[in-house]
Amino acid sequence: MHALYAIKTVYRDMHVYEFVHTGDSEPAKGGKPVDYSEKLDEAIARLHDEGRYRTFIDIERKNGHFPHAVWTRPDGTQRDITVWCGNDYLGMGQHPVVLEAMHEAIDAAGAGSGGTRNISGTTVYHKRLEAELADLHGKEAALIFTSAYIANDATLSTLPKLFPGLIIYSDALNHASMIEGVRRNGGAKRIFRHNDVEHLRELLEADDPKAPKLIAFESVYSMDGDFGPIEAICDLADEFGALTYIDEVHAVGMYGPRGAGVAERDRLMHRLDIINGTLAKAYGVMGGYIAASAKMCDAIRSYAPGFIFTTSLPPAVAAGAAASVAHLKRDQELRDAHQTQAKILKTRLKGLGLPIIDHGSHIVPVIVGDPVHTKKLSDMLLENFGIYVQPINFPTVPRGTERLRFTPSPVHGPDEMDTLVQAMDELWSHCALNRAELAG
Ligand code: PLP
Repeated sequence: MHALYAIKTVYRDMHVYEFVHTGDSEPAKGGKPVDYSEKLDEAIARLHDEGRYRTFIDIERKNGHFPHAVWTRPDGTQRDITVWCGNDYLGMGQHPVVLEAMHEAIDAAGAGSGGTRNISGTTVYHKRLEAELADLHGKEAALIFTSAYIANDATLSTLPKLFPGLIIYSDALNHASMIEGVRRNGGAKRIFRHNDVEHLRELLEADDPKAPKLIAFESVYSMDGDFGPIEAICDLADEFGALTYIDEVHAVGMYGPRGAGVAERDRLMHRLDIINGTLAKAYGVMGGYIAASAKMCDAIRSYAPGFIFTTSLPPAVAAGAAASVAHLKRDQELRDAHQTQAKILKTRLKGLGLPIIDHGSHIVPVIVGDPVHTKKLSDMLLENFGIYVQPINFPTVPRGTERLRFTPSPVHGPDEMDTLVQAMDELWSHCALNRAELAG
């Protein structure tokens, strides 16, 4: 059987196609050289064996009633639940200001954007959102992507094209999207121990002082809820002539007087070269972005395949996100209510003697320390109490630190909090008894 392949290369910004005949390729007829179905079975079985196979809980969110939702069990029956593990941290996914902006944009501009940013997909909504974000972070420009995952991956994988020989220093607990961007860029990388500025210093000292460098880290690490040492990292960056790249995905909307994140709260925003954020968590919509100098955004815009070769966000999504960002620049009350909720939940769970990780952020992880127990607790909370909190297991967190990660929000009322605390009290005692039995 003959096959014709088109090989695409990019030469001086031109796409060049080369058509190649492969001659005979085996097998000619009947049967495939690889049993693809078996390979898929093996891959899935590996996950089951390691206890890492993920099942998705089927939920229907109820606009106007967050955090309430309806869970559809695998057999089709339903149960009312309260979501305690969502990342719509402030309930902006149902905020009237956001919904109104989205409805208006749909009525005015229709559903999709109709193209990539370069080819007919840049609208007034995209431009407005970028201006809103640049203003939020006090930067000259911002660039929106279809998600923060893509923003991290596309930006970090593109930077070595702009700065040949770039060495990226990446925190060991950086999000998968940053790891992927750093890994794919083909440049040099150094991993420093989580939040360990002394280790980062050692790595910086060991490299050529003239080499271009960039330090990539997060402001709030989402699994433990701890903060990155922003100021110390900026000091090192100054000392070693490195650029700084911060992921504020779990902070934007929630920290700082206008919701620009922890760097804003700590008055350090001006010391960060590239700030990454999401529009999908505290802002309640979807999309991601970077904010940086006009030159940096222009270069990423021009070189990053993850920005160039994909359809831009629907106008209504951009409009909703812009409305949410604009609203949260002013709504300090909501931010305060969020922090208060997190403090109350932590205090109450600590009062029960539960092992909480508390770094003073809005994330409330309860360490269970065993994947089977964690899953069991999560299942019982859902089935018996209508409380939905997803178990968090390896590889998302290290083995032995499996946990339930609660995300209290201003839309969780006192009754929901009471139900959760009582349920945890009951189940934790039950779990402790079971463990004692196992140990005995
Ligand atoms: N960065 C961090 C630290 C995250 O936790 C996540 C998602 O959970 C992302 C980036 C990706 O954000 P998005 O959902 O907008 O793709």
